[in-house]
This record gives sequence, structure tokens and C-alpha cells, in this order.
Amino acid sequence: MAKIGFIGLGNMGLPMAQNLIKAGHEVSGFDVTPAGSAKLAESGGKAVKEIGDAAAEMDIVVTMLPAGQHVRDVYLGNGGVFARAKKGAVFIDCSTIDVETARAVIAEAEKKGFLMLDAPVSGGVGGAQGATLTFMVGGSDAAFEKAKPILETMGKTIVHAGAAGAGQAAKICNNMILGISMIAVSEAFVLAEKLGLDKQKLFDISSKSSGQCWSMTTYCPVPGPVPTSPANRDYAAGFTAAMMLKDLKLSQEAAKSAGAATPLGANAAALYQKYADSGEAGKDFSGIINYLRKS
Ligand code: NAD
Repeated sequence: MAKIGFIGLGNMGLPMAQNLIKAGHEVSGFDVTPAGSAKLAESGGKAVKEIGDAAAEMDIVVTMLPAGQHVRDVYLGNGGVFARAKKGAVFIDCSTIDVETARAVIAEAEKKGFLMLDAPVSGGVGGAQGATLTFMVGGSDAAFEKAKPILETMGKTIVHAGAAGAGQAAKICNNMILGISMIAVSEAFVLAEKLGLDKQKLFDISSKSSGQCWSMTTYCPVPGPVPTSPANRDYAAGFTAAMMLKDLKLSQEAAKSAGAATPLGANAAALYQKYADSGEAGKDFSGIINYLRKS
């Protein structure tokens, strides 16, 4: 069993760390806010008081942080992970961040002789709790082989997407599809309402026709056709509009720096910005149908 440091014990990080404990690993956790650390300690982990204490002597360090700047601070900062980790340690950053930061931090890790991966996830808090996350992983084969058994403890599908940054690239491409497709499905339901077409009839037809997609059949934005979708619980998240906006902004930044044309991605980002600004940032992202209905 491994000695694992876990940094960032929020909505996702805490249940992921708890699954590592359940699998028998020795987990030391750190978060800038004490609530997550306290819950980790209650679950049999060790709450430490500094970032460096979650890195020193660890075989593996996992991070689950809000954004690129936090990742830079935690790894590169004074008394941070690079400064305190032992030789041969493997770092796994599961945060969703910009491709550029992921590549830069991994390059720095490799320069210092460490192995490091970017491994963002899909599957949300439910997937983190149930250890059914999908991990999209970027980095060297050597790092991937060492990290895979640890990732399998927290997730069900582990894909080595390519070199450093490839995990983040996969995540933002996937979520750009999701953001655009949710708007497309929502617009179709709004149009159907105006045309007097029953929502269940549209679902029955489109879910079996060429309009079929995850946003329609698993996460349908109107109540009724898919009883488990957030539309049936007043759009309680799920995956918040703020998170979708974050990922769409990351995909737009990446598209700009890579010179890729993503006009629908840009429009989706603009619409999610307006939806979030209308006071709904904390609602599920599928609630954008209500914004579109009012527009
Ligand atoms: P969260 O805000 O609940 O957790 C982040 C945690 O990091 C917080 O507890 C915060 O205090 C801590 N933190 C911030 N700076 C720190 C530092 N310097 N040192 C230690 N801890 C620090 O967010 P979350 O929902 O757990 O999401 C984490 C990451 O996972 C994000 O990048 C998010 O985009 C991604 N993600 C989230 C979901 C989801 O459904 N919540 C799904 C997929 C991916």
C-alpha cells in the first residue's frame, strides 16, 4: 500500500481521498480550509497543516484544485510539493486547468526528476463518491504505469490520452461538445413548445433519431422524459453552470492559442456567461433552457 498525499479536499477531492483510504492506502490530506481535512481525519486519514507535509515522504501526491494558478502555487511555491517531495515520487494533478499550465508544471517536475501526469476527471461528485470517475490522462508511459493502480481505486475508466497536457485537452474538447449539445437540445425543446409539439413526443422521436445525444437521453433539460435528470429537481446541480462556463472558457483560451476555429464553442461560452450572470451560476448547467426560453 502507498503513502499518498492529497491536496484539495473539496467536493471532489474529499470523496476521492476517502476511496484511497478505503482501499487501504495511508493518506495525508491538506486543504486551505479546515472542513475537508477534518472530514478526512474522521474517515481514517491524517490531516496535515502544510502543503509540504502532504508531499514529504509520499510515494504519490494527488491534487484536486480549482484552477491553474492554484496548481502552480501548490507545486512550484515555496515549501510546495516540488520543494518537499522525495526522489521517485509520482504526482497526479486531477484538477481541470488550462493545457499550458499543465504542460509547464509537468515539464518542471520532469526537470527535477519527478514523474507527473495531468489527469482531469469526468463523472462529477457522484462519480467521485462511487469511484466511477473517468480519468483522461496526459504524460509519460512511465508515470502512467505507476499511477494507473491508484487511479483505478478512484475511477472506472482510465484512458492514457497522450503526452503531457493531453488529459486537459481531452477534457475541454469533451466539455465543449457537452456545452454546445446542451444548448442545441434546449433550443429544440423551446422551439417545440412554441410550435405546440409535446415534449415527450419530441423526446420519443429525437432520442431514437439523428438528434440523439447524451444531453437528450441522459440529461434531458425538460422535466419528465428522463426522471433522473436535474430538470426534475428544479435544476439543482449536478454540474453547475459556473463549472460549465469555466470549462468553455478554458476551451476558448486553448482554441485561441492553438489557432482552432470554434465558433459554436465561442457562442456557447457567451450564452453560459449570460446564464451565470443572471444569478443562476450555482444551478445545473442544463437550466440554460430557462434562460433561452426567456431570451
Ligand atoms: P471545490 O472548490 O469544492 O474544491 C477545491 C478545494 O481546493 C477547496 O476545498 C479549496 O479550499 C482547495 N484549495 C484551494 N487552494 C488550495 C491550496 N493552495 N492548497 C490546498 N487546497 C486548496 O471544487 P471541486 O468541485 O472539488 O473541483 C475541483 C476540481 O475538479 C476543479 O478543477 C473542477 O473544475 C474539477 N471538476 C469538478 C467537477 C464537479 O462536478 N465538482 C467535475 C469534474 C471536474
